Amino acid sequence: MPFKPPEVFRCPKCSKPVYAAEEVLGAGQKWHKMCFTCGLCKKMLESTTVAEHEGLVYCKQCYGRKFGPKGYGFGGGAGCLSMDAGEHLGNKDVAMSNKPNYQAPPGSQ
Ligand SMILES: [Zn+2]
Ligand SMILES: [Zn+2]
Repeated sequence: MPFKPPEVFRCPKCSKPVYAAEEVLGAGQKWHKMCFTCGLCKKMLESTTVAEHEGLVYCKQCYGRKFGPKGYGFGGGAGCLSMDAGEHLGNKDVAMSNKPNYQAPPGSQ
């Protein structure tokens, strides 16, 4: 029998093993502290400030802006930027990454 190492969690972000000394629990997974950052603004997160969505982690602010009730954080908010239509939040990318294997049905082109 080969030596079977104890189960090592791999960081969802960098895919490297996460050891107890550097682990942060979030979204049901273990992350490196350095990797446990908001998927949008890259702010470092803590297990108490994280909001998760489909396995990715965000700070509460970005989560609210991206997934919150329609209109929340947009238009009239203190952080409202001109031309802020959500592109910088990666909404397009998310829409695409949700369907990695999407193919147009035959006959639709
Ligand atoms: Zn990592
Ligand atoms: Zn953020």
